[in-house]
Amino acid sequence: MNLILFGPPAAGKGTQAKRLVEGRNMVQLSTGDMLRAAIASGSELGKRVEGIMQRGDLVSDEIVIELIESRLPEAEAAGGAIFDGFPRTLAQAEALDIMLKGRGRQIDLVVRLKVDDEALKQRIAGRFAESGRPDDNPDSFAIRLNAYNTQTAPLLPYYAGQGKLVEVDGMGSVDQVAAGIDAAMG
Ligand code: AMP
Repeated sequence: MNLILFGPPAAGKGTQAKRLVEGRNMVQLSTGDMLRAAIASGSELGKRVEGIMQRGDLVSDEIVIELIESRLPEAEAAGGAIFDGFPRTLAQAEALDIMLKGRGRQIDLVVRLKVDDEALKQRIAGRFAESGRPDDNPDSFAIRLNAYNTQTAPLLPYYAGQGKLVEVDGMGSVDQVAAGIDAAMG
């Protein structure tokens, strides 16, 4: 099964993806994690994206599409992929559909974690101190949230039109949200 965990920054996508990796032998494909690894390694790619990520803007579609493509075989060999933080634009979503189709696969389900903006801001205020992520500060977070609302949320009708979109309340505890996702996955 190929699943997209969809939702704004700090909705709990990463936490839920990690749980599914353990429970279902799926592979978490987080473009944010891949980009942070590139920065940590000091690679050319890392140098190109560091400033953009720190500000809270999206990096280019080409970069993230290539990162995802290189990891698809690994996900196929396991129980499927959990896309976490990808796709974030319509161009990415279309590219993903084409890449999967070329491999005889598809997106099976899109789970949207619904969390209201106020709760997100509170979560991020708590996370900043712990995560050490430079883009968890209030200014960058406001830009990330805006990027979600303007560039990523418009994907919802795209997946609803394909009949793949399910909404799960993301405001509860980690276990409650997990139960909602499990119910959606069947
Ligand atoms: P995340 O860990 O998913 O919140 O991503 C952290 C940052 O990495 C984002 O704010 C973007 O700068 C960049 N990023 C991650 N995934 C994508 C993507 N699919 N498209 C564009 N930029 C991305």
